[in-house]
Amino acid sequence: MGKIYFDNNATTRLDARVFEEMLPFLRDNYGNPSSLHSFGREARRALDNARCNAANLIGAEPDEIVFTSGGTEADNQAIMGIADLIGSPGGRIITSAIEHQAVLNSCRHLQKRGFSTTFLPVDYEGRIKPADLEDTLGGDVILVSIMYANNETGSIQPVEEAAAIARSRGAIFHCDAVQAAGRIRIDVRKLGVDLLSLSSHKINGPKGSGALFVRRGIQAPVLLHGGHHEQRRRAGTENVASIVGFGEACRLAGQRLDETAGNCRMLRDRLEKAIMEEVQPAIINGSRENRLPNTLNVSFPGVDGQFLAINLDLMGIAVSTGSACHAESREPSYVLKAMGRSDDEASSCIRFSLGGENTVDEVDAVILALKEFVGSLRTA
Ligand SMILES: *Cc1c(COP(=O)(O)O)cnc(C)c1O
Repeated sequence: MGKIYFDNNATTRLDARVFEEMLPFLRDNYGNPSSLHSFGREARRALDNARCNAANLIGAEPDEIVFTSGGTEADNQAIMGIADLIGSPGGRIITSAIEHQAVLNSCRHLQKRGFSTTFLPVDYEGRIKPADLEDTLGGDVILVSIMYANNETGSIQPVEEAAAIARSRGAIFHCDAVQAAGRIRIDVRKLGVDLLSLSSHKINGPKGSGALFVRRGIQAPVLLHGGHHEQRRRAGTENVASIVGFGEACRLAGQRLDETAGNCRMLRDRLEKAIMEEVQPAIINGSRENRLPNTLNVSFPGVDGQFLAINLDLMGIAVSTGSACHAESREPSYVLKAMGRSDDEASSCIRFSLGGENTVDEVDAVILALKEFVGSLRTA
């Protein structure tokens, strides 16, 4: 068997059809979408098409999509941009303790500029309680930012309830939906969000593109100032090839969503069941009911997660110990710590994140490897 990739929450393989769609824009179709001649018009048409595909994936209108360089930029644009629109420091932002670092560190940056931040706690399953948001939400709150699904645990947040609470008090609501998009169905109208972040490389698109959904009727937050691109909402000549790839990835993700989710859920549940029955003791980190179908985060108490991940890698099995963004730090995951796990439990975790291409044979090979290694690491 070839290498096994179970790290799809870190990044995904570029889909072959996405690659084919991008190729012309890396070769002959090099026009600038802002140019009036045929080269430019061709690039503009491609952007318009990608914008429709991205909008369709989340139930938005095309003019509500602002292309960015990825999820990190979309999160920064939402948070810094809203703070800029409000202008006067002193306003408060409410987010959760388990957000992606793109959100957490944007908020921390604003703290230095005089804004204050409230980090909502999460329960043992990694979910916020809407009542906590209700209790802390005052007139000073300018923005509430709650992610859709957590990258480490897959836990899905009560976004619809949180958005309704925020908006009833006049705060703007942002949602980082980078992990949820393409994995579960998203409808921005039903959710009632004002801003929502997407990333291309988490849904089999190329790296370096993504989008911020900006609901019609709100003033758009701006991060990059310059030319009139993206209706003055994001300056800079568009990364045409990458955006074209992102658009195609959105189209394919929408088309295959049920099939991909069903396959991932079947494989994930098979893996989870085998671990709980045959690799005890093991603790599942994340919600059993409200979780992405592709994600399984497990702690193996008494085992060093990093050491286990390295051993699996030597066998050609790619998994991660939480988030790819801080793999080099040996600090236990702040997400698991916020969920009440001990240092030992948090540093003994492994995240398996599946994708549409994974197979039963791969799952069975991983189960075998786990039985072998976890057992030997525990007796060592
Ligand atoms: C990957 C990820 C991001 C960052 O997206 P990039 O396109 O890699 O910048 C933001 N939020 C979440 C939840 C993610 O998983």
